[in-house]
Amino acid sequence: MRNLWSDSEAKAVVSRHAGEGIGEDLALRAYTARLLGGEPALVLHGGGNTSVKTRADNLWGEAVEVLCIKGSGRDMATIQPDGHPALDLAALRRAASLEALDDAAMVALLRASLLDPEGPSPSVETLLHAFLPHRFVDHTHANAVLSLTNQPDGAALVAEAFGERVAVVPYVMPGFGLAKAARAAYEASPGCHGLVLVKHGIVSFGDSAQESYTRMVELVTLSEARLESGSRKVFAAAPLPAGLAPVAEVGPILRGATAPDDGADGGPPLRFVLAHRGGGRVLDYVAGAEVARYGQAGVATPDHAIRTKPKPLLLPAPEAGKLEAFADAARAAVAAYRDGYLAYLARHGGPDGADAMPRVALVPGLGLFALGATAVEAGIAADIAEAAIEVITDAEAIGTFESITEAETHAIEYWPPERAKLANTADPPLAGRVAVVTGGAGGIGAATAAVFAEAGAEVVLLDRDGEGAERVARELGGLGLACDVTDPAAVRAAYDRACETHGGIDILVSNAGAAWQGRIGEVSNDLLRASFELNFFAHQSMAREAVRIMGAQGGGGVLLFNASKQALNPGPDFGPYGLPKAATLSLMRQYAVDYGRDGIRSNAVNADRIRSGLLTDEMVTARAGARGVSEAEYLAGNLLGREVLADDVARAFLSLALAPATTGAVLTVDGGNIAAAPR
Ligand code: ZN
Repeated sequence: MRNLWSDSEAKAVVSRHAGEGIGEDLALRAYTARLLGGEPALVLHGGGNTSVKTRADNLWGEAVEVLCIKGSGRDMATIQPDGHPALDLAALRRAASLEALDDAAMVALLRASLLDPEGPSPSVETLLHAFLPHRFVDHTHANAVLSLTNQPDGAALVAEAFGERVAVVPYVMPGFGLAKAARAAYEASPGCHGLVLVKHGIVSFGDSAQESYTRMVELVTLSEARLESGSRKVFAAAPLPAGLAPVAEVGPILRGATAPDDGADGGPPLRFVLAHRGGGRVLDYVAGAEVARYGQAGVATPDHAIRTKPKPLLLPAPEAGKLEAFADAARAAVAAYRDGYLAYLARHGGPDGADAMPRVALVPGLGLFALGATAVEAGIAADIAEAAIEVITDAEAIGTFESITEAETHAIEYWPPERAKLANTADPPLAGRVAVVTGGAGGIGAATAAVFAEAGAEVVLLDRDGEGAERVARELGGLGLACDVTDPAAVRAAYDRACETHGGIDILVSNAGAAWQGRIGEVSNDLLRASFELNFFAHQSMAREAVRIMGAQGGGGVLLFNASKQALNPGPDFGPYGLPKAATLSLMRQYAVDYGRDGIRSNAVNADRIRSGLLTDEMVTARAGARGVSEAEYLAGNLLGREVLADDVARAFLSLALAPATTGAVLTVDGGNIAAAPR
């Protein structure tokens, strides 16, 4: 492991923070926390914690000894000084004399010791830092250390690798008990540079930020050196079928098999969003003949339990062309997983009603799929599952991976301070749904993607202008793809990307279109056909692929089409545009008729006079001029006397996505144009 400390960078950080009234201790504390946090082999997503003991003013303006400790769940990769709230150190140290301290009392003590009562919740491992005497204390869940300690003879391996440099702390659950055990281990060998927490991680400490950080790097490097002796081929592979089904086809089946409900809340069916990983080490791991042993042995470090659950779901390899059999096997495996998880809860005291779905699935030949309520959560679970695979692979190379016991795992998985890291706000209405929007680079498409993202959906934006789609997607935390929707192969490829990224789709907003004009008796067939390609056949290609994926998932879905008022109320010289749009309106109804039995709803928005995309600024100027009115009067020339915006159309799409009993409907968004009213 490389030592990334830089004198010049440290100096720059100190002087930058000095201007904000932040002292050198805290500035350097945050600096080395970031050095550790930027290395995924040390900590991931809020894991690990760092502290410094220094002085700060209390509410009376008196300088007191404080412990500045990482806020619970804060990401060390980006942490700043304010991510380390200050606690009254004397108050924390008084607790060291107690025999026992229950969780509620510990949490109360931490909060009551905050100098700023509004500060972030301190790390659940605060007392471990407070009870050690060193100014700087660093704690990580370094993969290499876990590969050594998570063995039947882990303590002996640690002693062999580190000698006198560390004191060993047997596994104790995080909290007061671990803080006391760590203190006792340090006192028994006061010359050590750190502590190895068996089956949990490592602590380093020192008088300066640089010393504590450097010791962490040195100790992890020693672990890596010990692991290098285990170079044998780790996992003997089980045979795989000759042809494997692709990730894009397996994702929707897995999403369907793990759907926590059937959409009874009224919206599109709730499903997990998936994240897939298929690197070389992941593939070797999932295809191993003994994956049912090492893959089910438990967590690599207690912190992982809330993200990945104690065990992953094991699935068979999906054979190409035999997806029905795979789907049956997946449903059976999920049912068995749920039964097993509920039995585990029953053995260890609940809680009742806990969600029993897996968070990680291992698929031989394809890799791992992580499941989350959102793409961000799925990504976190996938990163953690990959780290666990690193740990277990290296552990198996030198011995046999062994986790904490089932009872210990349950205790940490349902420990209230740990659960608090997951506490999320109320689910937005489209959380867990994946929406594909065509014509997403601007206008109605971009506005719709924004409204759907705000409602919690994962958005995938397609546009012939791929850079434009990527730009909009970046702002929304979505996926932007270049796609010519008139090319069925490109449409299929775009859906494959969406399924590889998120596991499937729930909503299609088929919006892309363009206005061809001409007096109908005078237009060429080529022009008319070009308009039909985009304004009709592209909608059909998008919808056909969407219902294929929704069918694989089961549980329904939503199709939404951008029709135009031309479909109902043809305007002069707009035949080349209106004719395919009329066909698209019929297409919407045909999907409603043919796919209602599968729970797939199909609806359209009938918008008019939206200044964006199809209605260019030049067209607005020309039409207003032809009518002898101002542009504003032209745009607001409707019953409500109000300009209709792309955002109004976007909100109409959202309302249709959330209308459980509506299919085959046209929703008019034109400010009132009675000649275009559907009935
Ligand atoms: Zn820890």
